[in-house]
Amino acid sequence: MLPTLVLVGRPNVGKSTLFNRLTATRDALVHDLPGMTRDRHYGRGRIGGKPYLVVDTGGLEPVAKEGIMAEMARQTLQAIDEADAIIFMVDARSGLTPQDKVIADRLRRASCPVLLAVNKAEGMNRAVVTAEFHELALGEPLAISGAHGDGISDLVDEALAPFPEEEE
Ligand code: GDP
Ligand code: MG
Repeated sequence: MLPTLVLVGRPNVGKSTLFNRLTATRDALVHDLPGMTRDRHYGRGRIGGKPYLVVDTGGLEPVAKEGIMAEMARQTLQAIDEADAIIFMVDARSGLTPQDKVIADRLRRASCPVLLAVNKAEGMNRAVVTAEFHELALGEPLAISGAHGDGISDLVDEALAPFPEEEE
């Protein structure tokens, strides 16, 4: 079984952009695997000698505005269920939001590792953009840019650290 990295975060933080980058080396969307729900995107990728499965939880956007919190909660709990590591994405440009805090509260109950990725940080000072996110108490926030590729290999290396390299 490939280790499964699940991308979690409120709408617009950049999950799908990062998903595309993480799966760019392999175009196979594994939507035909049995038992996978339809409201998520699954793809495969590899960094160094380590292959992984990555899940974008934003496949189903909530239909009604009042449904956003409930929908995020549902998707977050589902993500916790299937993840070997969770990449929780927040947005450096909009800063810490109440929705981020709701998601963080749920992720703190996850039994797998949670990495906190501060996205859209290209061209910004790492220490400055990550500072306010320490409050979420999910470990050291990592500044990344899914669009530009900054910090991505460090992020994935850390997420995959517990998993072995693929055998020849
Ligand atoms: P999602 O709703 O979480 O899947 O977010 P998307 O991947 O659809 O991205 C939402 C918006 O943020 C789009 O306009 C993206 O172009 C933009 N975006 C995503 N990643 C980055 C990034 O690293 N830097 C910047 N500046 N914008 C980004
Ligand atoms: Mg999306």
